[in-house]
Amino acid sequence: MTEIDIAIIGAGAAGIGAARRLHGRGRSVLLVEASDRIGGRAWTLGVQGMPLDLGCGWLHSAERNPWVGIAEHAGFAIDRSTSAWGEQLRDVGFPPAEQEAAGAAFATWDARLRDDPPASDRAADALPRDGRWNAYVEALSGYINGTGLADLSVADYRAYDDAASDTNWRVPEGYGTLVASQLPPIPVRTSTPVRRIRDDGDRLVLETPRGAVRARVAIVTVATPVLANGGLRLPARYDDRCHAAARLPLGLANKLFLRLADPEAVPPESHLLGNPHSAGTGSYYLRPFGRPVVEGFFGGSGAADLESAGADASAAFAREELGALLGSDFARGLRLVAASAWGQADGFGGSYSHALPGHADARTTLAGPDDRLLFAGEACSRTDFSTAHGALATGEAAADAALALLR
Ligand SMILES: Cc1cc2nc3c(=O)[nH]c(=O)nc-3n(C[C@H](O)[C@H](O)[C@H](O)COP(=O)(O)OP(=O)(O)OC[C@H]3O[C@@H](n4cnc5c(N)ncnc54)[C@H](O)[C@@H]3O)c2cc1C
Repeated sequence: MTEIDIAIIGAGAAGIGAARRLHGRGRSVLLVEASDRIGGRAWTLGVQGMPLDLGCGWLHSAERNPWVGIAEHAGFAIDRSTSAWGEQLRDVGFPPAEQEAAGAAFATWDARLRDDPPASDRAADALPRDGRWNAYVEALSGYINGTGLADLSVADYRAYDDAASDTNWRVPEGYGTLVASQLPPIPVRTSTPVRRIRDDGDRLVLETPRGAVRARVAIVTVATPVLANGGLRLPARYDDRCHAAARLPLGLANKLFLRLADPEAVPPESHLLGNPHSAGTGSYYLRPFGRPVVEGFFGGSGAADLESAGADASAAFAREELGALLGSDFARGLRLVAASAWGQADGFGGSYSHALPGHADARTTLAGPDDRLLFAGEACSRTDFSTAHGALATGEAAADAALALLR
């Protein structure tokens, strides 16, 4: 049995943040990762010479995002141009007056969350009954939260929104490439899922199919569905953490990359919303970084429907939406090159966390203090959840707590 001071479970942004903090601090550390890959939901896939992010892509709240400084220090370029999300190329399918009305409906909903939040804490209850743009607001919630408004806590959404800025930058080499590159030279075991953690005297034992690990302290960074569904079983005294994890499910957001037959058909760095009257519509980023691809983004129930239909059916859906806006010749020339399916992916069960109505405080419960098992990961952040920088900060905090415990 391997004996160490600190075990880190999960090699995503939080686990890497913990590893960076613990490296060179005189403690024996082992990072144990279920998959054969480093980075978790930060994942850049190399496709036909293009680094495509299947998970995180945007350095949100970029002025205060610590990954920016890490990237610069490591020699990564940062793209600081403004995102094209807010524009509709040539106003096709979404005339300016409608864009204005839809934007106003979103702003009214958002103001209601602040000024007169529904007692239910359910974000759907802040929508006007039969509002003309309700589907539009739902679509945006799908992208932002990965879920519809019926399952979204107002207090939780606001905690993020109040702390976030509107500045979003990118890493042309891929956010996933950046995150994975920051794993320090510590012992790592990949393809090693931890199935159970049990007590053994004053030590913890991590059970894996490749043997057991004995540790004085463990930092658990797995996504909430893994804790809520028993993918990683914990001693009974952590039941409250697993219940908290169940109240912080992962919403679903997926990406789909389509290669353009004629890249000149659309300008670089432009954007289209598929159908502003449909909650399940796609958001299409055309030629990001000038590359010959369309990056489709689907959220909430739309993403769930498409993920169960499969990548080819998702591509057909995207072709249909884009064909209606840009013509059937354009749509015919789109070839599927990559797609994510985060809901079905082992070890994840979704894309990013949101609190169910009435349960914003579950984040505090999940991340609470302990003398042996420390919890990290994006869902543990009270304001920067659902992001790679939130995950990083929770990993660093857990590492600091682990060092303090061993002192
Ligand atoms: C489509 C999509 C788009 C996104 N866009 C953005 C964005 O633009 N900007 C942004 O900041 N964030 C974005 N995010 C969110 C961001 O990627 C995540 O919040 C962040 O990467 C989560 O990091 P983490 O370390 O908390 O968890 P994870 O990345 O999930 O890491 C946990 C690790 O634990 C491993 N694991 C699971 N079970 C076990 C086990 N039993 N034993 C051992 N290991 C286990 C997993 O394999 C994984 O590697 C996006 C996510 C998705 C899916």
